[in-house]
Amino acid sequence: MRILIVEDEVKTADYLHRGLTEQGYAVDLARNGVDGRHMALTADYDVLVLDVMLPGIDGFEVLQSIRAHKQTPVIMLTARDRVNDRVHGLRAGADDYLVKPFSFLELVARLQALNRRGRAQEPLDLMVGDLHVDLLNRRAARGAQRLDLTAKEFSLLAVLARRQGEILSKTSIAEMVWDITFDTNTNVVEVAIKRLRDKLDGPFERKLLHTIRGMGYVLEARDEEPGIEP
Ligand code: CA
Repeated sequence: MRILIVEDEVKTADYLHRGLTEQGYAVDLARNGVDGRHMALTADYDVLVLDVMLPGIDGFEVLQSIRAHKQTPVIMLTARDRVNDRVHGLRAGADDYLVKPFSFLELVARLQALNRRGRAQEPLDLMVGDLHVDLLNRRAARGAQRLDLTAKEFSLLAVLARRQGEILSKTSIAEMVWDITFDTNTNVVEVAIKRLRDKLDGPFERKLLHTIRGMGYVLEARDEEPGIEP
């Protein structure tokens, strides 16, 4: 799921950006209405998180401009004492709203609901061979054997599992899991992949995480692996 957050309050914006990235989502951040409108119109997002009170042009105006061109699902963030904002937002074409302060898990649940409504359902459980990835409870198991993963290892696995069968480059993995632009001198991805692989594939005969030399990694249940290094 690709999410755009439009929020000027630095603390809230950074908290949401970090939290949603850790959930394995691709997250962009706009810190004012003008940038938010531009990004929403020029890129494809699955869901927008749009604050009402923004400098420059406010959330309603942003929503109005977007609705003239796109039906991207929008969840608006409103202040507790401004009931009219909610009514106004929903009338203007918002799909949902949350009153500040809200719980992070509540936001994730609403985002997932909106994303499901907006497009083909994003599953909460993923299967790759005998691997079961439970995205809601952030747990993974192979067959009946639970994998003891750190939060980061789970995020990495979730990113790979959501795109199973797709080769992911180190750069894109670094962006999706760590939200960093990849520095070619670091081996952060390689180290994390190795740790994940030890737990995911180490004790099991059938390997799921494959290295494609010069290209990246792919999570896939294969019968044979011609020409591909395990
Ligand atoms: Ca604001």
